[in-house]
Amino acid sequence: MKYQGVLKKMKTENSSQIQYYLDMNSDFLNMNQLLDKEIVISFVTYECLNCHLEKKVFRQGYCKSCFFEIPNAADWIMKPELSKAHLNIEDRDLAYEKSVQLKPHIVYLANSSNVKVGVTRKQQVPTRWIDQGAHEALEIVEVPNRYLAGITEVALKEYVADKTNWRKMLKNDIEDENLVEWRDKLKVFIPEEAKEYFIENNLETHLSFPVLKYPEKPKSLNLIKTPTFKGKLVGIKGQYLIFEDETVFNVRSNEGLVVSIEI
Ligand SMILES: [Zn+2]
Repeated sequence: MKYQGVLKKMKTENSSQIQYYLDMNSDFLNMNQLLDKEIVISFVTYECLNCHLEKKVFRQGYCKSCFFEIPNAADWIMKPELSKAHLNIEDRDLAYEKSVQLKPHIVYLANSSNVKVGVTRKQQVPTRWIDQGAHEALEIVEVPNRYLAGITEVALKEYVADKTNWRKMLKNDIEDENLVEWRDKLKVFIPEEAKEYFIENNLETHLSFPVLKYPEKPKSLNLIKTPTFKGKLVGIKGQYLIFEDETVFNVRSNEGLVVSIEI
């Protein structure tokens, strides 16, 4: 069977083991069913996720002109502390910004390769943690808008990482951390404006990824330089496909590439 479509990050479902789905036009591939099977991925062309033109991807699956124009690629996406909809100030499209920013947001601790702090919309829990390959996570603050979540993250970044080491995450070179202890240690550093939203009593969420074999030296597949890759799929973690020869492919960072997948 051969499928073709533009790559978008895999959809996930949190069951006893996380289920991954790749949208290939009209077909949804359940990637878990491809474990232990040979697949061939080939680069076909580009397709911007916004304008759908055959233009080179600049960032986040968008061509350069879309990336600098559309409201869902503005700076406050990556830097929540820049959010201004709560002040009624427009960045690119105030109606859109209100619809996203003025919703409950979560500041969380997650452990993917190390403990890190992050921000997500409440409705993106636990999707965000799955996408990062975190095997454990804990919500620590729930605020009514993105700005408050952003300034809380900025304050806590002084004391805890905000990045994942993807190699460590994929090697499963991880330690279980007591995130409740981390939360209690960090509490004092939450900014005044957000203190009332601290979540006192909740428990860690644990996530289990479908991986048969972790790579020892993961090497990243660049589908532009190597337009066809064939390998046996042995795992999926975060948004990475893991192959038997230790090649890994980050679906999310390849959004906007049209590929064919042969099974
Ligand atoms: Zn575009």
